[in-house]
Amino acid sequence: MTEKSSADTDVRLGYISENLLEIRENIASAAKASGRKPEDIRLMAVTKTVEPIYIKYAIENCGIDLIGENKVQELLLKEPLLPLENVESHLIGHLQSNKARKIAGHVSTVESVDSVELACELGKRSLAVGVVTDVLLEVNIGGEESKTGMSPDELPHTLEKISVIDGIKVRGLMAIPPICENNDDLRRFFSYMRKLFVDIGDKNIDNVYMDILSMGMSGDYKTAIEEGSNLVRIGSAIFGARTY
Ligand SMILES: *Cc1c(COP(=O)(O)O)cnc(C)c1O
Repeated sequence: MTEKSSADTDVRLGYISENLLEIRENIASAAKASGRKPEDIRLMAVTKTVEPIYIKYAIENCGIDLIGENKVQELLLKEPLLPLENVESHLIGHLQSNKARKIAGHVSTVESVDSVELACELGKRSLAVGVVTDVLLEVNIGGEESKTGMSPDELPHTLEKISVIDGIKVRGLMAIPPICENNDDLRRFFSYMRKLFVDIGDKNIDNVYMDILSMGMSGDYKTAIEEGSNLVRIGSAIFGARTY
């Protein structure tokens, strides 16, 4: 690692505001294309591997009010270093049940719930610290071996079990589609997610509020919004390429 000069830091901060201006314009036009208003779509800044100075800038100077981290450890480390009074924090990466204890009370939402076991543990740990944690069910929409999330077939059955757990509240679905060679294939995955989302919403299951459909990242958020996403999770298009 080379020491970064403050001039480099300033340049990067400048890019972050420019990137966000452009992203917000794109979100607005994709929202219009799908018959919605720009404010119907929430923008999450995905902050994994990003140093606090940049996240702080995005919050204080660019109106970011929702951030997402992948890892519990990283989230807990950064939490005290960020001005989060008016900022919502979500966990978006895979969570092992035995880590639910650490995250309860530190995020409003866990977007990556993919098993009844995890939901139970999260509910129990949330009650223990006196909160209700919102959850999204993660769907492995492309049926990929390498990905976490439940299959669309499992979804109704798992949802039924999760909906009765105290300490959590189901708010919607999250997905990361497979890498697609063409945009039509990608669109089909997003559109399938929207169908699942609407169908579940129509069932009016007790304690299930299908109001968040989290899909779309730096490379595909416009298509995701056009197909019905109302929360996009954007990292590299805001902060630049990640260095691990
Ligand atoms: C890293 C990550 C993102 C953001 O990815 P970008 O391509 O950098 O926008 C979104 N969602 C999840 C679950 C991620 O892990």
